[in-house]
Amino acid sequence: MSRIVLKGVNKYFDNNHILKDLDLVIEEGDFMTLLGPSGCGKTTTLRVITGLENPEAGLITINEKEVVNGTTHYYASPSKRGLNLVFQSYALWPHMTVYDNVAFGLEMQRMPKAEIARKVENALDKMKILQLKDRYPSELSGGQQQRVAIARAIVTEPKILLLDEPLSNLDAKLRLEMRAELKRLHRELNTTIIYVTHDQVEALTMSTKIAVFFEGTLVQVDSPKEVYRHPSDIRVADFIGNPKINFVDAACEPIGGALRTVSSLGVRDIPSPSSFQGEAVLALYPEDIRISAEPVESGIACSVYSVLPAGSETLVQLSVGSELNLLAKCIGELELPVGSTVWITFPADKVNVYSKETGKLVS
Ligand code: ATP
Repeated sequence: MSRIVLKGVNKYFDNNHILKDLDLVIEEGDFMTLLGPSGCGKTTTLRVITGLENPEAGLITINEKEVVNGTTHYYASPSKRGLNLVFQSYALWPHMTVYDNVAFGLEMQRMPKAEIARKVENALDKMKILQLKDRYPSELSGGQQQRVAIARAIVTEPKILLLDEPLSNLDAKLRLEMRAELKRLHRELNTTIIYVTHDQVEALTMSTKIAVFFEGTLVQVDSPKEVYRHPSDIRVADFIGNPKINFVDAACEPIGGALRTVSSLGVRDIPSPSSFQGEAVLALYPEDIRISAEPVESGIACSVYSVLPAGSETLVQLSVGSELNLLAKCIGELELPVGSTVWITFPADKVNVYSKETGKLVS
C-alpha cells in the first residue's frame, strides 16, 4: 500500500495562513498533480507530507500509518516516512560523479555491484544523460542536473515519489520527452507520484488526478478531463485554459431542461437541469467555436481582429460588437482577412455556466 491521506491540514508562516483545512487523498498508483499559481501552497503541501515542515493542525497518514498529528504534536521524522523527493533545486552531492550520485541509494541497500551498474546505467539512459556519467555536478547545465536528480530518485524504484517542478529547467523538446518518460515510468513501476507544477499542460498530459489550489485552498480534485472540461470554479477555468477560455457575462434563467442566457452572444438556451437564476458568466472554449466565412443559421456575426497561425492550428481573435472579444482555435491553416466579417457557431451543451456571485459552476 502507498496511500497518503491529509485531513484538516493547516499551516501558518508567521501570521499568514498558508494551507487552509486541506483534505486530500492520494490513492496507491495515483499520479496526483498539485496545480495552481505561484505561491498557492503546492510546495508547502509537499513539505508537510515529507516532514520538512510541520503543520499546526491536521492529520497525515502514509500507508495507514499516522505520520502527523497536529493535536498531539506528533511528527514522524522525514527519514521514517519512506518517501523519495526531487526538488526543483536538485541538491546533488558536489563531490560525487553523476554515476555515484545515482548509485548512492542502491549502495546503501548493499546491492551487488553488477546490479547497481545495470540499474544506474538504465536510469541514466532513460534520462538521456548516460554519456555524462563521469562528470561532476559543477560540470553540468541546470537541465542536466535536474535529470540526474530524477534518475537518482527513480533508480531505487520507490513506492512513492514526490516531484517538485522537476522539469522546469528543460527546453521545450526535452520537457516533452521527459513528460512521456515519467508517465511511462509511473505505469511500469506503479509508483504513487505526487507532482507539483504551475504548468497546466504538464498537469493535463501526465496526471491521473489533478488537485487545483488557490491561496492555500483546494478548489477541485478530479481527473484531467473533468478539470479541463468542467472546472468547478471560474478561477480554475481561467487558470486551466490554454489558450484562455472565453468568458461572457450573461443573465440567466431556467426554462425547464435548459438555462436561457442573454448576453452579447444573443439569446442562447443551454441544455441543463439547473434551476440557477441570476447574473452568470458563460465559459466558451476556443476549440468549440466554429468559424464560417458565409452567414450560417443561428451564427453570430463577428469581425476578425487578428489571425495567429501556429503551425497545425490557427488562433483567431474576433470582435463581437464593440465590447466582446473572443478567441477561437481552428485546426489547420486559415486565411481570413483582418477586418472581414465571419459567423461563429458553438455547441450550446459545451458551454459551462458560472454564478457571477460565487464563481461556482452551476451548469
Ligand atoms: P511556486 O509555484 O512559486 O513554487 P507554491 O504554490 O509552491 O509556489 P509555496 O512555496 O508553497 O507556494 O508557498 C506558499 C506561500 O507560503 C507563499 O506565499 C510563500 O511566500 C510562503 N512561504 C513558503 N515558505 C515559507 C517560509 N519558510 N517562511 C515564510 N513564508 C513562506
